[in-house]
Amino acid sequence: MKRLLLHGLLCVWIFGVCTQGVARPPNFVVIFTDDLGYGDLGVQGHPSLRTPNLDRMAAEGARFTDFYSAAPVCTPSRAALLTGRYPLRSGMCQMGSSRSVLFPNSPGGLPPGEVTVAELLREAGYATAHVGKWHLGIHPGSRPQDQGFDQTFGLPYSNDMDAVPSLPKGAAMSPQPPADGWNVPLLRNGTVVEQPADQTLLTRRYTDESLAFIRAHKERPFFLYLAHSMPHVPLFASPRFKGRSARGLYGDTVEEIDASTGEILAALRAEGLAENTLVIFTSDNGPWLTQGAQGGSAGLLREGKGSTWEGGMRVPCIAWMPGTLQPSVISEPVSALDIFPTLAAIAEVALPKGVELDGRNVAPVVLEGASMPDRPFFYYRGDEIYACRVGPWKLHVRTRDGFGGSAAEVHNPGLLYQLPNDPYERHD
Ligand code: MG
Repeated sequence: MKRLLLHGLLCVWIFGVCTQGVARPPNFVVIFTDDLGYGDLGVQGHPSLRTPNLDRMAAEGARFTDFYSAAPVCTPSRAALLTGRYPLRSGMCQMGSSRSVLFPNSPGGLPPGEVTVAELLREAGYATAHVGKWHLGIHPGSRPQDQGFDQTFGLPYSNDMDAVPSLPKGAAMSPQPPADGWNVPLLRNGTVVEQPADQTLLTRRYTDESLAFIRAHKERPFFLYLAHSMPHVPLFASPRFKGRSARGLYGDTVEEIDASTGEILAALRAEGLAENTLVIFTSDNGPWLTQGAQGGSAGLLREGKGSTWEGGMRVPCIAWMPGTLQPSVISEPVSALDIFPTLAAIAEVALPKGVELDGRNVAPVVLEGASMPDRPFFYYRGDEIYACRVGPWKLHVRTRDGFGGSAAEVHNPGLLYQLPNDPYERHD
């Protein structure tokens, strides 16, 4: 009897220790801006754009100097982020098409068979939300609600699509774009809730939606994918931010995103979730340089959106997880392809079987400052390889300016640059 009682007590004690020891899996928030350039944050050296929240996030977290989007334009870049695979594998690189991204009348979309990081995490018990721009297809099988997200709120594609027939040419890059110039719909879980969407309120509404999702899911692990529509032209800011930035309308939209990020980090702190939430802030591609003053800046990098020169694909990236992630500046080459396997590793979720991933788990780099063995990073434009980086070296076999530029130039022998010594790719 005594022995039985002792055994029972021991079981209760062991159970208590075990349950106490089981930490809740971390939450993930990925904030993905549209066409934000390498030089467009205060912490990235912009002289007049004020981004105090992102600057503070960088000071408290890890800032990456050599982080790459996996494509120089929206659609393939998003496909790569969510699948951890080069867009060539999912077909989201518009092979055989003159279009580099999906349009409202495009038949295609992210294939249903692709495994997204949202699907992986949802299967592991995560609540998942997509807020903002999608741009991976509007047809069943490709929509956010078909690709692992419990809930979705935002635009199905870019905010400059669905232009009204009377829209004057060049209106998108105007410093005063007409509010009724684009008939783009705002959707909630597949239902149109407003058309045309009031673009001046997009960032505000995305922020409110994100805050509500975080607060509603503080008791269980969550994954929030917040893909801002800004600062992609046409640029719109809410009344609180319009006309406030020294960097014009472009600065207004970026400063509103900065404030939005600050609100999200503050909410995570207020809810006691900051220490258990990894927040990643980055951009889908470089600045749209042909948009004049409404396009951003790649800082000291060459070229912008649409190009495989550094300015087209090297983008700002900040990771934040106070207490776990030590303040640091990381110069290891890392890309959006790495986000999928890294989140899976941190969440201790097994990678999908039979899926060829192109990214690596970079948690040791981010969390412990470890360095990784050199590995190649390929710069694709559509379905063609234009360049490759290994360690400090980048070899171009083709080059082309972003939109509005001339045809591709083939280089044989290739152009070779040592990037840390020559970030602008000036000296072959
Ligand atoms: Mg973009």
